[in-house]
Amino acid sequence: MSLSYDAIIIGSGSNGISAAIYLQQKGLKTAIFEQAANPGGSTRTQELTLPGFKHDVGSAILPMGFGSPFLRSLPLEEHGLEWIFPEIPYAHPFSDGSAHACYTDIRKTAVQLGDDEASYFNLFEPLVKDWEKLENDLLGPLGIPQHPLDFMKFGLKALPSAKLLAKHYFKNEKSRIFFYGSAAHSTLPLNSLASASFGLVLSTMAHKYNWPFPKGGAQNFINSMLSYYTSIGGELHLEKNITQLDELPESKTYLFDLTPKQLLKIKGTDFPGLYRKRMDSFKYGAGVFKVDWALSEPIPFTNEKCRKAGTVHIGFSEEEMENSEQSIHQKNMTQTPYVLVAQHSIFDNTRAPEGQHTAWAYCHVPNANTEDFSKIIEDQIERAAPGFKDCILKKSTMNSAQLNAFNPNIIGGDINGGKQDITQLFTRPIAKMSPYSTPNPRIYICSSSTPPGGGVHGMCGFNAARAVEKDHF
Ligand SMILES: Cc1cc2nc3c(=O)[nH]c(=O)nc-3n(C[C@H](O)[C@H](O)[C@H](O)COP(=O)(O)OP(=O)(O)OC[C@H]3O[C@@H](n4cnc5c(N)ncnc54)[C@H](O)[C@@H]3O)c2cc1C
Repeated sequence: MSLSYDAIIIGSGSNGISAAIYLQQKGLKTAIFEQAANPGGSTRTQELTLPGFKHDVGSAILPMGFGSPFLRSLPLEEHGLEWIFPEIPYAHPFSDGSAHACYTDIRKTAVQLGDDEASYFNLFEPLVKDWEKLENDLLGPLGIPQHPLDFMKFGLKALPSAKLLAKHYFKNEKSRIFFYGSAAHSTLPLNSLASASFGLVLSTMAHKYNWPFPKGGAQNFINSMLSYYTSIGGELHLEKNITQLDELPESKTYLFDLTPKQLLKIKGTDFPGLYRKRMDSFKYGAGVFKVDWALSEPIPFTNEKCRKAGTVHIGFSEEEMENSEQSIHQKNMTQTPYVLVAQHSIFDNTRAPEGQHTAWAYCHVPNANTEDFSKIIEDQIERAAPGFKDCILKKSTMNSAQLNAFNPNIIGGDINGGKQDITQLFTRPIAKMSPYSTPNPRIYICSSSTPPGGGVHGMCGFNAARAVEKDHF
């Protein structure tokens, strides 16, 4: 280990590593310090159930990792990354046994929606066409947009709630439920402002890039990033739980891949009282309850589209989905929650022993709730896939406290580093011109608690590193 660095990054999540790569690429001397024995934060793969079954403990489907303007500029394939593209990015089953599939082809997707075909096509076609113009403005802090007209047009559609947008565009309930499936990734009530933006962005990415995932597990994404990072001279130090600044070697700058609550606990930052107070009022969002299964066969979805999709969104009526996403913010759970399911092993035979399978799922829960919701998750899947429970060889469950123990950034089970409502979407952790800098000129934040927020895209790290470069180098 050197005695002095240009930048030290605390935390090896996808944002921490992205920040480190960017600065190392600029010829600076950097190192990452990570508290866990394995790098990757919420992007790690483990044999949680039985030997040979590889489960993504956190993030599992990485369209934003594939499409990220920064990450796609890196030679990750040369460092072992292999992408898997499911036949169908995502599907949504309905109670009558039918399902809608989101294909990469917008027209093929729209046709399934009957009367809503034209509305769906007119909603997504311009977004997919203009995505390259939009992405830089959407994936950074609030500022003067590079493409103001496109940004404004997107804002008009994205600012309303998912409920309002769905009602405005779609006559059929199935079309609205289908849109809710991707909008509900926001972890917000579906009637809250800007919840539509998540559905728009995620479905646009499905049409543009598919919803791919790394062969062998999400961990391989991190491994390829670190392989590239160390190949250009970066250093990774594991099992270094940082509690105070002077535990670290001397460095011109420090970038924390931590959320506000954790950063405030680090001693020696010399933050003034007012900044502490503002950071202390940062809001965390709802939590998740996670389940992984080792299966004797793939999930027996009744509908073929679901059997061919990498991701399946479950929620059988508009009301069921709205209630599910509303109640968690009132500290309640419905018995029929919205469930996100991923089924990698259908497309990636390295995930499970021959002929056997894995499945990954979670539902949203009130923050810090520690109850076991695996039964209601399994009940929901069983409604679309009768016989599912008979395929289970073993399961692993993680409540919000167990997720928080797995990764200290998952506060109360919040997987996005803080609530992503309209007040904290672009202005996180607090509203200021450069949300990455702090009152201590040597300290920066690079986690998903900064814009553009949760997801494996590395853009928080990239933006923070650019702020460091601009201010110091
Ligand atoms: C169950 C679950 C499912 C998800 N699904 C998806 C998905 O399918 N697709 C998607 O794009 N995103 C998904 N996400 C979200 C995504 O994983 C996160 O948004 C992303 O990992 C955030 O990256 P980060 O670098 O900001 O933080 P993290 O990945 O949380 O990394 C932070 C790192 O900092 C380390 N650290 C914390 N404190 C200290 C300390 N004091 N000293 C040293 N190190 C420290 C932690 O150990 C950790 O390694 C999911 C997350 C979870 C938990």
